Amino acid sequence: MQPIPYKMYLSETELPRAWLNLRAFMRKKPAPLLDPATLRPITQEALAKVFCDELARQELDDTSPYIPIPTEIRDFYKMYRPAPLVRAYCLEKKLGTPAHIYYKFEGNNTSGSHKLNSAIAQAYYAKKQGLKGVTTETGAGQWGTALSMACAYFGLDCKVFMVKCSYEQKPFRREVMRTYGASVTPSPSTTTNVGRRILEEFPSTSGSLGCAISEAVEAASTREGYRYALGSVLNQVLLHQSVIGLETKTALDKYGVSPDVIIGCAGGGSNLGGLIAPFMADMLQGKSQHRFIAVEPASCPTLTRGTYAYDYCDTGKVCPLAKMYTLGSGFIPAASHAGGLRYHGMTSTLSELYKQGLMEARSVKQTEVFKAAEYFARIEGILPAPESAHAICAAIDEALRCKERGEQKTILFGLTGTGYFDMMSYEKFHDGKMQDYIPTEEELSKGFAGIPKL
Ligand SMILES: *Cc1c(COP(=O)(O)O)cnc(C)c1O
Repeated sequence: MQPIPYKMYLSETELPRAWLNLRAFMRKKPAPLLDPATLRPITQEALAKVFCDELARQELDDTSPYIPIPTEIRDFYKMYRPAPLVRAYCLEKKLGTPAHIYYKFEGNNTSGSHKLNSAIAQAYYAKKQGLKGVTTETGAGQWGTALSMACAYFGLDCKVFMVKCSYEQKPFRREVMRTYGASVTPSPSTTTNVGRRILEEFPSTSGSLGCAISEAVEAASTREGYRYALGSVLNQVLLHQSVIGLETKTALDKYGVSPDVIIGCAGGGSNLGGLIAPFMADMLQGKSQHRFIAVEPASCPTLTRGTYAYDYCDTGKVCPLAKMYTLGSGFIPAASHAGGLRYHGMTSTLSELYKQGLMEARSVKQTEVFKAAEYFARIEGILPAPESAHAICAAIDEALRCKERGEQKTILFGLTGTGYFDMMSYEKFHDGKMQDYIPTEEELSKGFAGIPKL
């Protein structure tokens, strides 16, 4: 076996030719999405009013194990993929751990995160259907940036509703989106019915992903030739993100490495779902054994403190209902610095795997997260996004546990993006002004009270 290099590259010809549909490998499938109008399993026709036809089809497909990646999308992937898979030799040495640590870095494109993997697919299918444009929401800004890039590539219009606190905290994100031709509106806004309704009830709200989603869906459904695009949570997004795990597995297989522990941060669950896809599929078929860990913020503890129930995916209750771990669609998390993890629910696939005990979850406080982020930046060089640093934090913990026990485990984690647009948060951390928000039981119970009783 060859020695393992710092960076484990793949050639273009080794890039995946098909996405992996994890649900097809699950014996007990995630529960179907429900139509908000009828509370019955949603049909492809109903979904196709919101999403492009092909994406509506992918959303409901839980039987095809692989779905071919169209050539146009694969060609775009070639511009920035394969994403580097790095053996964290420096981190291992610094920690003095016998563990072997690997990370898959998705921040190597202008949008700065893994979100581009699904954005380009969603823009492609919109273009193929002859649409004029798409609408979307963005929390931290990564998804809006990614979709703007993808729409610019295919010549589509892109309207982005950006969660108000991010819009204010991250003016540079907004300008990147405008550079790629998108229009950006702070949410909640007065441009939609649902935005006006939310503003009336909560005039000083800093916004949330759930409410920006409702606005974007309304904006698409009231415009001819537009559909809505969502950057996480959906089955189609997990499908596209499987490119992360497939590349990782191809590279590790070349060196005969099989990870014992696979860690990822979890907002809506797409990067983690994508990273674990081929490994979980193997495990479900009895071919391998792994531990999977989802890491979430203590301020928005969906898996660790949420309930498993059918709930709305958005505050405005216009999207289909999903059975998932949820804090309630009315739960508006504190304005934490990991904007991309401020979502009340969790993709139904990961929710079901967690329910079945096939995946673990833990929550971490943001001051610990930034400590880990800074430590990592100084050792491995990459300045991580605060979201990604949740995974770093858990990976370091696992590596230290290996050190205590003298175990030589292999740890793989997803490094989802860069933190260049998060310097205001880093500044708060450096100035000692960052606080940890942990919702009380009482605050959580308010969110739970809004979960529909079916
Ligand atoms: C959006 C985002 C996340 C969280 O989203 P998931 O769908 O849970 O993957 C994590 N990291 C970064 C950098 C992001 O942009």
